[in-house]
Amino acid sequence: MNNDEIIQVKDLKKYFKTSLGIVRAVDGISFTIREGETFGLVGESGSGKSTTAFTIMGVYEPTDGEIYFKGSPLPKSVKKRPLSLRKEMQMVFQDPGSSLNPRKRIGQIIELPLRVHRLHVGRERERVKELLEMVGLPVDFINRYPGAIGGGEKQLVAIARALASEPSFIALDEPTSALDVSMQAKIINTLLRIQKELNLTYLFITHNLSLMRNVASRVGIMYLGKMFEVAETSEFFHKPLHPYTKMLLSAIPVITEEEEKIKPKRVISRGEIPSPVNVPSGCYFHPRCIDCMEICKKEDPPMVEVSTGHFVKCHLYT
Ligand code: SF4
Repeated sequence: MNNDEIIQVKDLKKYFKTSLGIVRAVDGISFTIREGETFGLVGESGSGKSTTAFTIMGVYEPTDGEIYFKGSPLPKSVKKRPLSLRKEMQMVFQDPGSSLNPRKRIGQIIELPLRVHRLHVGRERERVKELLEMVGLPVDFINRYPGAIGGGEKQLVAIARALASEPSFIALDEPTSALDVSMQAKIINTLLRIQKELNLTYLFITHNLSLMRNVASRVGIMYLGKMFEVAETSEFFHKPLHPYTKMLLSAIPVITEEEEKIKPKRVISRGEIPSPVNVPSGCYFHPRCIDCMEICKKEDPPMVEVSTGHFVKCHLYT
């Protein structure tokens, strides 16, 4: 493990038993997150990206595999994690409406982590005002209820609450997907500014590849619980390798000439994502892949490092 790696995920699996069979939501993924970076996890709905974040945060216990935080293995369940660890790792959810208690004033919501972790004792109220200012909200929000503010403002309150415990790592699960475009930009700018000011590390989950280009330092792409490709953001967009990455990149709308130049040739999407209870043999992507070979139907390809820091899981590169 390198010194600058704050999170290390090794062969992580999370399966769920359902009435239809076993859902392999996360199926043996490995990646690291470096201190101070934004690691972007992208994928279509059902790819396992949110389950990955929930498992790292201890909301779900892994079926198998290891997660390390700052070099030490993490207890599997959040209940077994010491308070000092929970203080360091925070999460912001997709729907701020359901993550804020509607019966509590915003001041009380942000103050709670200060009391739990015994931070800024005796000046909690002032600290709440500082946190509101940090996320760009007026301090008089302290006496309002979540129901009296907009969706974007609720998300900023959720970010202020996450910051209250003074974490070093925040998992952001589609933090802007429920918001309109102008509010999305405000939230992203706020998150990036705070990250610089406080040297935070983010795991940023989204299905929006264009957004990833602007926020992430490195990107990982998931499909049916598997990690298909991991690379520095610029390498990911300029030299995508995996056929699935190329398919997704070729479908995103471009605005600038520079984006048009690097966009892969249009790859027509074949078929739908298979059911996660009935995954294909071999490479999970083979029924949809235009480059599919015989071996792809039988053998799951290994993840290989094709150039420094650029990993891909595809038989074309083994
Ligand atoms: Fe396509 Fe084969 Fe690569 Fe899978 S392993 S993405 S089927 S070429």
